[in-house]
Amino acid sequence: MGVDMLVDAHCHAHSLNEEVLGRIEDGIIVIAVSEDLESSLKTLELTEKFENIMPFIGIHPWSLEEITQQEIDEVIGLIERRDDVKGIGEVGLDGKRGNREKQMDVFKSFCRLSAEYDLPMNIHARDAWADVLGILRKMDVESAIIHWYNGPLSLLEEMRECGYMITINPAARIQPRHMDVLREAPLDMILTESDGPYEYRGLRLGPDMIEDLVKLIAEVKRMPAKDVEDAIEFNFRRIFR
Ligand SMILES: [Zn+2]
Repeated sequence: MGVDMLVDAHCHAHSLNEEVLGRIEDGIIVIAVSEDLESSLKTLELTEKFENIMPFIGIHPWSLEEITQQEIDEVIGLIERRDDVKGIGEVGLDGKRGNREKQMDVFKSFCRLSAEYDLPMNIHARDAWADVLGILRKMDVESAIIHWYNGPLSLLEEMRECGYMITINPAARIQPRHMDVLREAPLDMILTESDGPYEYRGLRLGPDMIEDLVKLIAEVKRMPAKDVEDAIEFNFRRIFR
């Protein structure tokens, strides 16, 4: 598949700068996600500086706790008006935190935009896995990444049939539940992610961990790392069809 290309399919734009990207140079393509209006604008700015960043904008379900309707409308306006937006995220539902009704409302608006403008979604679905999948299907979302999937293994096949992807995070090394997902999910629905700069049990996550994550996936799937890398790059291209 040509030159080697690693994929970080979910990294927060505010953690990306010259230093972080300089360390990994050109061999990686990063989906930079946003959490609110300010970070959405910053994500779009970053794209002007770095070619290997795909800007996704949106409002994180946790951010909804203190956001105004005007801010929500402005983010929606950016998606409608700017053709440098390549996707919608991080958006979604959180079964453990926040106001479910408000989350539903806003998430559905983003799903509508995804279907209308043919933009892939990058989704937070913690403890709301089945609800998220149901909404995506009902609202005709064609391209979606469910990030750091830790939901029921029984939903994987349905997601795969819809053409949705999940991301595997470097935390799989120390999070048994996530390792089970990695073992169970077919490679053709897997993308790699860092969720940088999030810290999980002392693990400082960042795009420089993707290379090691590919090795872990290769061990679990009993394949050469090069083949895993190619498969993930292929999956990544499918997201943007
Ligand atoms: Zn995230």
